[in-house]
Amino acid sequence: MKTETLQVKTNEKALNGFTIDDIGDDHLYTGLKTPLKKDAFKLSDTKKKERIAILFEEIMEVMGLDLTDDSLKGTPQRVAKMYIDEIFSGLNPKNKPKVALFDNKYQYNQMLVEKNITLYSNCEHHFVPIIGKAHVAYISSGKVIGLSKLNRIVQYYAKRPQVQERLTNQIANELKTILDTEDIAVIIDAKHLCVSSRGIKDETSSTITAFYGGAFNTPQKILELQNYIKN
Ligand SMILES: [Zn+2]
Repeated sequence: MKTETLQVKTNEKALNGFTIDDIGDDHLYTGLKTPLKKDAFKLSDTKKKERIAILFEEIMEVMGLDLTDDSLKGTPQRVAKMYIDEIFSGLNPKNKPKVALFDNKYQYNQMLVEKNITLYSNCEHHFVPIIGKAHVAYISSGKVIGLSKLNRIVQYYAKRPQVQERLTNQIANELKTILDTEDIAVIIDAKHLCVSSRGIKDETSSTITAFYGGAFNTPQKILELQNYIKN
């Protein structure tokens, strides 16, 4: 019973009054901003990697793994480097893609859709992969953006511990700000390994989230967009 109630309560106060046992495997979305500590960037990347390697080594040791084994001994350092330099590099604003805008010289005033953007993220509740596709669209308010920058913005926000609802809205919010328009759409279709490889072990389900802003928030535009992205 609790599960059903919680799934619709995806708002700021969703956790209030509930313990992690009540929530279990439900994936709650608590706000637009990734919850970061105030001093999140006090340590340098080098120091963070050193600390994570020590801590991950301890996790492996607690699990009983033999860290003197040739295959395992480099794992704590590899995991630390992967966390900071790759899969969680989007936590640090210094890694935000630099975006140049151009004048809309072509006078193109219909939607532009960048579809099937490869998406790799990680679920913040289990730290296992989220794998899928993102589709983003905008209608120019006078400026246009380099196409590859759309992919880079998606990837920047994906490289954080995430929930799919927040990821969708963070990408939309960034595009709204950069392109100075409300006319933005973001659709994400992704598989969560915490659902497919463990827990309920459902291999066929995927999760779809969507943001339709401004001119996109009409039945006609949504239909048009869905027509473009269907394979
Ligand atoms: Zn999860």
